[in-house]
Order: sequence, then structure tokens, then C-alpha cells
Amino acid sequence: MNDLKMKILVLDDEPFMLKLLEHILADLGYAPVLACDNGQTALELIADSGEPPNLILLDINMPQMDGLAFVRHLVELHFSGSVILVSGEDERMQQAAEKLAIAHKISVLGHLHKPPTPAGLGELIGKWKIQSRHEPRKDRNVYGADEVRAAISGGELVNYYQPKVVTSTGRVMGVETLVRWRHPSDGLVYPDQFIGVAEAHGLIDDLTKVVLKNAFAQSKVWQESGLMLQMSVNLSMDNLAALDFVDMVVGMSTQSGVAPQMMMLEVTETRLMSDIRIPLEILTRLRLKRFRLSIDDFGIGNSSLAQLRDIPFDELKIDQSFVHGACSNEKLWAMFDSCLSLAKQLGLEVVAEGVEDQADWDFVRNRGCDIAQGYFIAKPMPGAELPEWIRTWDQSYAKSRKRIP
Ligand code: C2E
Ligand code: MG
Ligand code: MG
Repeated sequence: MNDLKMKILVLDDEPFMLKLLEHILADLGYAPVLACDNGQTALELIADSGEPPNLILLDINMPQMDGLAFVRHLVELHFSGSVILVSGEDERMQQAAEKLAIAHKISVLGHLHKPPTPAGLGELIGKWKIQSRHEPRKDRNVYGADEVRAAISGGELVNYYQPKVVTSTGRVMGVETLVRWRHPSDGLVYPDQFIGVAEAHGLIDDLTKVVLKNAFAQSKVWQESGLMLQMSVNLSMDNLAALDFVDMVVGMSTQSGVAPQMMMLEVTETRLMSDIRIPLEILTRLRLKRFRLSIDDFGIGNSSLAQLRDIPFDELKIDQSFVHGACSNEKLWAMFDSCLSLAKQLGLEVVAEGVEDQADWDFVRNRGCDIAQGYFIAKPMPGAELPEWIRTWDQSYAKSRKRIP
């Protein structure tokens, strides 16, 4: 059962709770585990261990160092594993603690009320397994500008593509391009480890150029084999600083023979822009040239409503944090529904991101969301694998009418 070599640490100030958790974990097949009754000892253990735990079961309310402070120290130790909160606090408090940990970029699998049930714990640990299978992330490296520059010019960036599916018919209607770095020694490196560096060091235009060029070329290959897919590409706000960006994209479309209508350009505003006149002009001109525009991560960026008011978007992507688990969380449900109804009233196509399991899929489909994207359908994959994946998907969809896969 312990097939993914999982190392678990349990941290709780109550000896009885430690024993109980150890017992449940042993029954689930996870033994032995590390146990600590205070945060300081746990941190020392993690810092000194050559192989830190990949999962921590964490009590929130402890004397001396509480769970929130512990999470802050985990960040300092560059902890790259996951956390499950186990506490006697009420639901709102647990959700707030979870949000705080996520804000620190710690992966939180969920929270459990004391005393936890074996089924509840087993389910959350199951999520860890799914996550590790899909995204075998290495310990996070921080890359320098020179390394990223060399990767861009040396052709080490590759596009992966994640399918987008029409929820009412199961048809694969498009893909989102997600850049990866095939690092010669570190393996596959994910964008959150180098996009920020590229933006900070003036490399993002070169990066986007490579991604766009590969996306146009891939699109052409698929078209020639009869596969018509809408191709989404992520832009950074920094790409929208110089007016010649429009000419570059138009040029690529002409050269590759892929019509602008096939391209969806995704933008997200992660920080406030002091002057939005130039980005606004660039986006409006791209739209005039018949490229399509999408507002990404809707609901979490800055001034999403103002962007919606000012920019002629065609598509709205509801951020994954309002999608996964929304069917069993009143708050998320309400927020998902508001985003959906806003988008519909504005006549936009709506995509739910982060559809991770059957419950998410059923939920977004039943709420009337047009398009779904997420691990439940497929994780991002190299372009060459996509045609075969679509064949398999279509077959299993036709067979099951969607209790897949
Ligand atoms: P995004 O545009 O919102 O892309 C969706 C992210 O969610 C992707 O992460 C994708 O792999 C992940 N994802 C997909 N399905 C699921 C799911 O069911 N559950 C969960 N938890 N995650 C899911 P990825 O590839 O690591 O990309 C992260 C972000 O990096 C992207 O977020 C995008 O903002 C940025 N990015 C990716 N490629 C590019 C690029 O070429 N240029 C720029 N400027 N940014 C990029
Ligand atoms: Mg995106
Ligand atoms: Mg997104």
C-alpha cells in the first residue's frame, strides 16, 4: 500500500491524539511514522533529516508554537511536501488556516475534524498520491536569470498541452499551452519556477515568442491532420508593454497559416498595473485582428471586474480555487455560481479550471458551465501524445456517457 514511499510526520501536543493517529495510519498501511508533540522538535527533525517527510499531519492549536507559526517555519525550511490539518477548531477556522498555509505556498491536502475517521484520513492521503503521480515536482530550485536566458535560447523550453472539453457533449474543443523546461539535469521544471524570473529580468518577451512559435507550429501540424483545436496561450502582462507585440503575433499567424480565430490569448493580472492604457490598446488591437481573448484565473487576480469592464474578452476561466470541491462547500458553490452567471450575462464562454474528480465534473456540468479543464480529464501532455489521447477519450466517453475514465 505504501507504494509511493511516503514518509509521514504527525504533530500534535496531545499524546492521546498522537497515538490515535499513529494507530489509524498503521491500519491504513502507513507505518512507521514520525511523531512529535511540539513544533520545535518537529522543525529540528525536518531540518536535520536528509530525507524530510512528504506529508505532515498538523494540529492547529498547540501551546508554544501553534500550527500557523509552524507553517511559517516550514516555508523557511523550503518544505516541499504536503500538509493535512487535523484539529478541534470549527470549520471556518480550519478553512482560514488552510487558506493561510496555501498563501505560504504550502500544499494543503485538506483538513479533518478531531477525532479523524480512518476513511476521512485515507481519502486525503489518496489525494497526495494523485498529486504526486500527476506532478512529480522536484525540490524547488530557484533559477537565476542567466540559466533561464540560456534555456530560452538553447531550445530547452517545450510546450505541453492540456485538453479542454465541452461538458454537454464530451467533445475536445481545444487545448491550453503550458510551458515546461526540459532541464538537462533537473528534469521537467514547471513554469512557477521560471516565469517570475523571466518577468523580473526582461526575458518574458523572448520566452513568450518561443511558446507562441511552437504553439502556432503545433496547431498547423494538427490542422493538416484534420484535427481542429482551439489553441490557448498564456500571456504575461509584461508582454503587453510594447505595441510591436501585435505585429509579432499577426506575423506568426500569417507565416504559419493558422487563423487568428484559432488562437485564444489568456491574460491574468497578478499585480496592479499603474498605467493600463498600453495593455488595453494591445489587447483591443489583437481582438480587432480576430485573435480571441480570455481572462484567466478569474476571481483571484487584482481588479478582475475592472478588466472585464474594459477589455473585450471572449472567454472567462473560473479559477480552480472556486471549482475543486465546490459541490460540497457552500461558500465555493456561491462564488462559482456568481462567476458563472456574470460570464453568461456578459455573453462569454466559461471554462472551469481544476476539475479534479468525478464530483467536480458532475458539478460543473450540472451548473451549466460550457467547458471543463483539469486532471480529471487529462493532465498537460506533449503535443505528440494528444491525438492518441483524444481517440481514447472519445471511445471511453461514448461507452460510458461520462462516468470516465
Ligand atoms: P494557468 O494558466 O492558470 O494554468 C493552469 C495550471 O493549473 C497549470 O499549471 C496546470 O497544469 C494546472 N492544472 C490543470 N488542471 C489542474 C487540476 O485539475 N488541478 C490542479 N490543482 N491544477 C491543475 P502549470 O502548468 O504549472 O502552470 C502554472 C501557471 O504558469 C499557469 O497557470 C500560467 O499562469 C503560467 N504559465 C504557464 N505557461 C505559461 C507561458 O507560456 N507563459 C506565461 N506567461 N505563463 C505561463
Ligand atoms: Mg492559463
Ligand atoms: Mg488559470
